[in-house]
Amino acid sequence: MSNESLANLLKEERRFAPPAALAEQANVTAEAYERARADRLGFWAEQARRLSWDTEPTETLDWSNPPFAKWFADGKLNVAYNCVDRHVENGLGDRVALHFEGEPGDTRSITYAQLQSEVSRAANALVELGVRPGDRVAIYLPMIPETVVSMLACARIGAPHSVVFGGFSADALATRINDADARVVITADGGFRRGKPSALKPAVDEALTRPGTENVRSVLVVRRTGQEDIAWTEGRDVWWHDLVERQSDRHTPEAFDAEHPLFILYTSGTTGKPKGILHTSGGYLTQVSYTHHAVFDLKPESDVFWCTADVGWVTGHSYIVYGPLSNGATEVLYEGTPDTPHRGRWWEIVQKYGVTTLYTAPTAIRAAMKWGDDIPAKFDLSSLRILGSVGEPINPEAWVWYREHIGANRTPVVDTWWQTETGGIMISPLPGVTETKPGSAQVPVPGIAATVVDDEAREVPDGAGGYLVLTEPWPSMLRTIWGDDQRFLDTYWSRFEGRYFAGDGAKKDDDGDIWLLGRVDDVMLVSGHNISTTEVESALVSHPRVAEAAVVGATDPQTTQAICAFVILRGDGENADEAALVEELRAHVGKQLGPIAKPKRVLPVAELPKTRSGKIMRRLLRDVAEHRTLGDVTTLTDSSVMDLIQNKLPAAP
Ligand code: ATP
Ligand code: MG
Repeated sequence: MSNESLANLLKEERRFAPPAALAEQANVTAEAYERARADRLGFWAEQARRLSWDTEPTETLDWSNPPFAKWFADGKLNVAYNCVDRHVENGLGDRVALHFEGEPGDTRSITYAQLQSEVSRAANALVELGVRPGDRVAIYLPMIPETVVSMLACARIGAPHSVVFGGFSADALATRINDADARVVITADGGFRRGKPSALKPAVDEALTRPGTENVRSVLVVRRTGQEDIAWTEGRDVWWHDLVERQSDRHTPEAFDAEHPLFILYTSGTTGKPKGILHTSGGYLTQVSYTHHAVFDLKPESDVFWCTADVGWVTGHSYIVYGPLSNGATEVLYEGTPDTPHRGRWWEIVQKYGVTTLYTAPTAIRAAMKWGDDIPAKFDLSSLRILGSVGEPINPEAWVWYREHIGANRTPVVDTWWQTETGGIMISPLPGVTETKPGSAQVPVPGIAATVVDDEAREVPDGAGGYLVLTEPWPSMLRTIWGDDQRFLDTYWSRFEGRYFAGDGAKKDDDGDIWLLGRVDDVMLVSGHNISTTEVESALVSHPRVAEAAVVGATDPQTTQAICAFVILRGDGENADEAALVEELRAHVGKQLGPIAKPKRVLPVAELPKTRSGKIMRRLLRDVAEHRTLGDVTTLTDSSVMDLIQNKLPAAP
């Protein structure tokens, strides 16, 4: 990247004040920022008291060996006890923890008392399988209650889990089992996806033939789809309903050190080979519990929270399992896709359960925009009071659409920036405090220190761009990359001395608010100007004909890089005159952002390459635009998308 700061092209003037009623009753007010600024560690020590500790910590942060942090190190707690048992002890056993909605329409509501029994049984079953504190358990399941139960059962007995997204192949599963040296795999015969049963067990069988997986002694199998012909390895495979259901529903949780490993989770692989991120117990739970309370203003007695992420991603770990359950929330768990059996399925679920808080990703919002305003309009969405977004920068047009068509122009939208590595939300508006700006994550949450720096690690002034860094350790920070301290140091701590390098480009606007501009690797250099992919994409999406856009810089002899845009058009109809539309889109970007940002090429395509967590993989589009062999595609949803795109491009010069 050149010395010049990122171009600061986008001008977004729309502002939305917090609704007065929400602000009046908000869990967290402006005063929290003051308190955290005055005494950051004291603030987090206070948040740690949200949890129930067997031994209260007297230490907050041990930063004597940076960047290896210890938080609340002399405290002891049980994470599962905090997420389940203590609510039952507080008289909330009858409150629904999970409203499960299966894709075929089967449902189950599970109270906290029932969850306590199920987690206890599963914990006893794992102990019977010989799982000891510290042993790793791989979880490869669809979005069903047993997934949540399995994670909590692992946490309860101190066995770190490694959840592998159920859509991944046998190869991806084998690599992750091997990397974490897992001893037990929990899986299912299959799950329901797009109206059909989709098998999971065969991928486990195949993965376990690969070298490096020999230490797996047991495979615990949930019956979900009831398919008949399922291969069985005697002595290794055991049915959940045989083993778990005969266990006692009593299990005494043991207290573990705050720094006891809670889970390993692999990043999405958007920028390269996934990294096995290690999270521990006390600090992680403190921050996910606090941020869930603050950012979603959770009122556990009346709210119905729904995070649509898969449990296989960090968003599912932190805001389906640990954050909401530690707060005693009632939430929705949905197994399937948003368009099965129809494109209104999500809105039907919001209406059915009276969802108050919806947390989803820009990719889903853009899909809903593309499908049409009339679909959500058919459902009663009046229960919604807060909307959240995570996973990618949200284009201002998508933000405004979300607020208008899902939130009835009433609900605050919180755009939350964070990563697998950060464990919990880091930068986000607070719904009762912040005047929001479409497309901006705006401010670090209380207790978090983030800023934007230039190449020389100098903080940039308001109105300028550079690299997003975190300047102080935080409770839910990753402790390392599993088994690879050196990669941990190299990836995050070597770019800027003493600061965590997030890998994302960002700018500060004139008010000092933070805007995320996409991956640093994705920033384009055009005729000496750094231009953000995010800003060009948002300019394209602000054209009424564009539903989605992905922009990359392709090597160009004249301008260093040339802007190449891939767009998905709105509406289903064929385009009478594609060439004219392409010209119109180029001109539109030129008008919005200035002539320097006008794409050299605009290619309408049917689909974009996305990770399984819904993020656009620009590195593959760059490979295409530069006529290279494609890089790692293992975390891609559908690799045939790349063939379709390659066919659209003119041949190599
Ligand atoms: P890998 O690290 O393997 O390339 P990944 O970074 O996609 O994968 P995650 O940890 O799931 O894996 O995603 C975190 C990244 O997602 C952030 O670094 C950022 O680029 C992007 N992101 C998440 N939330 C937001 C947001 N609200 N605004 C902008 N970008 C976001
Ligand atoms: Mg990343």
